[in-house]
Amino acid sequence: MDGLRGGAGEGVWVRLGAGPEEDAAALRRAGALLRRGGLVAFPTETVYGLGADALNPQAVARIFAAKGRPADNPLIVHVTGVEQAGPEVVAHWPPVARRLAERFWPGPLTLVLPAGPRVPAAVRAGLPTVAVRCPAHPVAQALIAAAGTPVAAPSANRSGRPSPTRAEDVWADLGPHLDLLLDAGPVPVGVESTVIDVTAWPPRLLRPGGLPVEELEAALGVSLAPPPALAQGAAAPAPGMKYRHYAPEAPVVLAGDADQGAGFLRRWLEEGQRVALVGCREDLEAVLRRTGADARWLALEDEPARPAGPLIALDLGPRARPDLHARRLFRALRAADAAGSTRVLALAVPEEGLGRAVMNRLRKAAAGGEVPGREREARAEGRDRL
Ligand code: AMP
Ligand code: MG
Repeated sequence: MDGLRGGAGEGVWVRLGAGPEEDAAALRRAGALLRRGGLVAFPTETVYGLGADALNPQAVARIFAAKGRPADNPLIVHVTGVEQAGPEVVAHWPPVARRLAERFWPGPLTLVLPAGPRVPAAVRAGLPTVAVRCPAHPVAQALIAAAGTPVAAPSANRSGRPSPTRAEDVWADLGPHLDLLLDAGPVPVGVESTVIDVTAWPPRLLRPGGLPVEELEAALGVSLAPPPALAQGAAAPAPGMKYRHYAPEAPVVLAGDADQGAGFLRRWLEEGQRVALVGCREDLEAVLRRTGADARWLALEDEPARPAGPLIALDLGPRARPDLHARRLFRALRAADAAGSTRVLALAVPEEGLGRAVMNRLRKAAAGGEVPGREREARAEGRDRL
């Protein structure tokens, strides 16, 4: 079959786009695999997902095993629309949840709702709620329709690693575990969905993501509440929020401004580290000017990363383009590894729109290695640290 590539394990990598008949055949095959309890990786508009039949506990167990995902981190159930999330899946739909689904689905918004009786405990991590989303990517839509069942799908990476935005990333992390990988090229959004809990009022923001919080709040007419742990000031975080996440192999430091960044860069270059500098273009230039260091710039979209010199610059795009920062973030973190970097120096991006999701991922990748810049330090009191 055209577009088929054999893999290291049982898995098969199918490039879509060879033709409408080939694509339809690949989707039928993928749907049948899901119905039989298989694992199918597929593109969504946010990141690539690792899909299994959400109503089949054995199939769901394979997701956790393949990813090395902790059992207390629940999965998002992907549906073709509200109709597929009937009372067996979502016990009831509060009116506000219906309105949000009408307004933002298909799209990068996940709604946490009361779980119906057919959702296995493993999907919910034992919680009484289930997270559901209707993805906008045509391949994701066609796949769920072909499967004829809701599809549980976390990001298709090994747990803790940067999420996959290209089929190559999925294959590198999970190839031997997959029954099928559907490849439709790089994803458009690049960060995971926004997750909100609509069982509470006002709804709680559990994870900023591909749908900007500002748009949600405008539609709701209220500000979203912070996640429970932050609201109570407690140490115990909400499910899925407590692990180092999105992280490349090399330790990450997140610098709040160019001065802080330049300080780290000087020290690391003196130590002989191989540094990957990640940030928006103007900030990368400012840090390089301050240190006088010479970097090799890697173009993320055109060129695969290769082992490079002691300093590479991974450009997330101009400051005014948060959409590009989101699209390039995980690619940049993976490129840092591919280049053999021993340190990643991330520079904070503006925290508006998609910038909130990008900063959330960078903070988790840095896992405590955040150094606020002077300006940020000054207004850090009361700051939203999502
Ligand atoms: P991922 O599949 O890696 O994109 O992560 C899905 C995230 O959705 C989890 O890490 C949780 O933060 C959130 N989530 C999924 N299901 C629930 C739920 N029932 N209650 C609260 N949060 C959830
Ligand atoms: Mg994930």
